[in-house]
Amino acid sequence: MSDYVKSLMQEVKAKHPGEPEFHQAVEEVAESLTLVMERHPEYRAAKVLERIIEPERIIMFRVPWIDEQGEVHINIGYRIEMNSAIGPYKGGLRFHPSVNLSILKFLAFEQVFKNSLTSLPMGGGKGGSDFDPKGKSDLKIMRFCQAFMSELFRHIGPNTDVPAGDIGVGGREIGYLFGQYKKLRNEFTGVLTGKGLNWGGSLIRPEATGYGSVYFASEMLATRGDNLEGKVCLVSGSGNVAQYTVEKINQLGGKVVTLSDSNGYIYDEEGINDEKLKFVMELKNVRRGRIKEYADKYKNAVYTPVDPNLDYNPLWNHKADCAFPSATQNEINEKDAQNLLNNGVFLVSEGANMPTTLEGVKLFLDNNVLYGPAKAANAGGVAVSGLEMAQNSMRYAWTREEVDNKLRQIMKNIHKTCADTAERFGTPGNYVNGANIGGFLKVADAMLDQGIV
Ligand code: NDP
Repeated sequence: MSDYVKSLMQEVKAKHPGEPEFHQAVEEVAESLTLVMERHPEYRAAKVLERIIEPERIIMFRVPWIDEQGEVHINIGYRIEMNSAIGPYKGGLRFHPSVNLSILKFLAFEQVFKNSLTSLPMGGGKGGSDFDPKGKSDLKIMRFCQAFMSELFRHIGPNTDVPAGDIGVGGREIGYLFGQYKKLRNEFTGVLTGKGLNWGGSLIRPEATGYGSVYFASEMLATRGDNLEGKVCLVSGSGNVAQYTVEKINQLGGKVVTLSDSNGYIYDEEGINDEKLKFVMELKNVRRGRIKEYADKYKNAVYTPVDPNLDYNPLWNHKADCAFPSATQNEINEKDAQNLLNNGVFLVSEGANMPTTLEGVKLFLDNNVLYGPAKAANAGGVAVSGLEMAQNSMRYAWTREEVDNKLRQIMKNIHKTCADTAERFGTPGNYVNGANIGGFLKVADAMLDQGIV
């Protein structure tokens, strides 16, 4: 660790104790930026990174709501408005019991760089609640969403802050949130992305993060004259990102053998083909069931429940070529990374945000893995959210092909930015440096232009 990173991290940890995920995200970016600070003392003098690290604004609020049995519940709501140098705050809402300030700050921090990489005019933000939607009735979900928006509405707007979905927030939740915003503001405006198709949503938005992560993987493979045809792939999660990752891998001729949820994972050696994927989509999106049911239906598949005593995730311990972590942060630790290497995996494309620990990332880089870090590989979701905002402003909708072509081109451009930047800063093939530096420069220059604000 350089002296620059050491002293910066000491300061961050002293100022913001007890935020390990946030520290992890900052440390990774700061390491990459050491290379920039050496060449550009003006960024250091203006304390640009130190300013990016501090959210412009954090909104925390009480979310009281009553369920259908008349019981009162109190959740915590958050919105982190991290950086608006290049556009309105933009980033998802996460509803999950693990949500806290550290997790949302890491996500908002990452979002700043990711949004910059898309080349669309979007600042970075993130929000959510410790509310757990799992197993709850539609009525409870609606009441919670309405209570959450009853406070959030005064802080957001199409030119201020435009939230979207994330873990636990899909089309259903965006619908309830939008309905409440519209009622309170008395205006129909593109204040959220991920909307339904017949009320302002964009085609390909549900698919975008998963498709984008596979497009990014294809770009990485192309640098070695390779493609996804015949590749065995490990995918974690079984939500929005995981589902469309599987769909695109299948379309490109690969074979996916795993999926998971927070209770366990399935391994299907024959591959999760389109018919089986359809079953998963119905299971997860309509019946809101558990991935275990996959192995009840397809007898050749093996279900393994999570074992809390293990210090590794057995999902990552199967023979494969590529891995697409698409569930949650820190789901690949150092041991998992070593298992992936031992099993022949030579490509990792991150659909989830920060799914690999710093030690795991180091192993990938040291072993020449084609490693696509989240802020580059999963930027397709927010990119199409940006396209949804553009369509809303024009009051016009592009076709499926138009949006998919734009997504593919954006992922190609992000890959090129990362690869070229890594090369320019003397670390060819290091997409971590490429993404961190590439994302930083645009935001940093905008901040220099706009003065100390
Ligand atoms: P979903 O809620 O649709 O799915 C999340 C999946 O991950 C579920 O299968 C869930 O299992 C599993 N999961 C969540 N938390 C844990 C945990 N602590 N341990 C094990 N499994 C867990 O969310 P998304 O698919 O939208 O998001 C997945 C990842 O992708 C997140 O990291 C998110 O930040 C990232 N991402 C999402 C984008 C999007 O457009 N949706 C954009 C960019 C990144 P269970 O059902 O048991 O909770």
